[in-house]
Amino acid sequence: MKTIYEDMGLQRVINACGRMTALGVSAIHNEVAEVLVKAAQNYVVIDELMDKTGELISIYTGGEDACVTVCASAGIMIAAAACIAGDNWNCIKKLPDSTGMKNEILIQKGHAVNFGASITQMLRMGGAVPVECGQVNLVTREELETAVTEQTAALLYCKSHHCMQKGMLSVEVMAEIAHNHGLPLIVDAAAEEDLHVYLNKGADLVIYSGAKAFEGPTSGFITGRADLIKKCKMQYHGVGRVAKIGKEGMTGLVKALELYSKKDEKREQKRQQELVGKILEDLKEFPFIQGEMSRDDAQRLIYRAKMKFSPDSPMTAQTVMEKLKEGNPAVYVRGHEAQGGVLYIDPRSISEEDVKSIINKLRAVLKEDAQDKGE
Ligand SMILES: *Cc1c(COP(=O)(O)O)cnc(C)c1O
Repeated sequence: MKTIYEDMGLQRVINACGRMTALGVSAIHNEVAEVLVKAAQNYVVIDELMDKTGELISIYTGGEDACVTVCASAGIMIAAAACIAGDNWNCIKKLPDSTGMKNEILIQKGHAVNFGASITQMLRMGGAVPVECGQVNLVTREELETAVTEQTAALLYCKSHHCMQKGMLSVEVMAEIAHNHGLPLIVDAAAEEDLHVYLNKGADLVIYSGAKAFEGPTSGFITGRADLIKKCKMQYHGVGRVAKIGKEGMTGLVKALELYSKKDEKREQKRQQELVGKILEDLKEFPFIQGEMSRDDAQRLIYRAKMKFSPDSPMTAQTVMEKLKEGNPAVYVRGHEAQGGVLYIDPRSISEEDVKSIINKLRAVLKEDAQDKGE
C-alpha cells in the first residue's frame, strides 16, 4: 500500500537510522492513532487535561509530577525558564530577557551538543546564559564547583550518544554539586528509554522526548519535583506559548507510555537480534562489506548491523549511503561513522520486508558502480 507521503509525490522512506527527527522520528501504533483522533474531535479544559496528563505520566516515571511539552527541546527551554523566572509573573512575562534575574545554567563542555539544533540555544530561549565548564573531553569537579556563582540558576546534564562519552562528571556528582548549593539539576534524556534512573540518581527535572524511545506522537515531557513542575507549567503563559502542545498530543503520549510500559523488552531485543542476524547473513554476498552485530555506543539496548567497508571497496561508505537515499523507496542507513568506512542498519523501525528492500537496493547501488566501470 502506498504511504500518504507517496500520494503527495514524495519518496517512501525505509528508516534504518533510528529515531531521527529528519525522517519523522517514529511511527505510532494503531491504539495511539485511535486516541489521537478521539482527542482531536472533542473539547476539554486544557489546564485540567495538562494536570491530568502530568499525573498519568508520573505513574510511569515515579516523579512527583510531570509537565507535558510539544518536544524535548521545548522541555529544555521551559525547564530553564522555570529555574530562572520561577513563579514570578513579572519575570515569566519578561523572558527570554532575564536581566536582573539569576540566569546562569552550567553545562559540561562535552555536553554542549547539537542534536539537530544547539542545546545551549534552547537554554537561551528560556532566558538562560549558558556557562560551559571545563574542556570538551575533560571536566573536573573543581572546574564545575568554581563555576557556581550568585548568578547560577541551575545545572544541566545531557545524556546522549551525541555527548562526549568520557571525561565528563556523572549525574550523581552533578546532583551533589547542585544540591550543595541549593540548586536544581536538570537532565536532558531526550532519546533515553529508562524513565527512572536519572530521578533516582538525584536529578530534580528530567526531560524526555515522547516520539523517540516511546514511539508517541510529536510530544515530550519534564518529570520530577512537584514545586518545579508547577513552575514549568506556568511558563505556558510566557515563552512556553510558542511551544504549545495540542490535546491530541497529550492524550496520545499517555497512551504511548502505557503501551511502552507493557512492552516485552526481551521479545523486542530478540526481534532486533534475529533481524540483524538475517541482515548479516544477507550481507555475505558483498565481498567488500564485513558485517557484525554491534551494541549501541550510549549503552542503550539496541543492536545494529554494522557494515564495515574494506579499504579496497570500489565505492566508499559515504557514496553508498548517499546512493541508497535516491529513488523510491529511499533507504536511510545510520552514517555517523561513514567517514571511517562504517555504516549501520538500525532494526528498530524496519520489518523483514524492509530488509529485502535494503539488500536489493544495496545490490543495485553496488552493481551500478560495476557497470559504470564497464565491468
Ligand atoms: C532529540 C534530542 C533533543 C530534542 O528532542 P525533540 O523531542 O526532537 O525536541 C534534545 N536533546 C537530545 C540529547 C536529543 O537527542
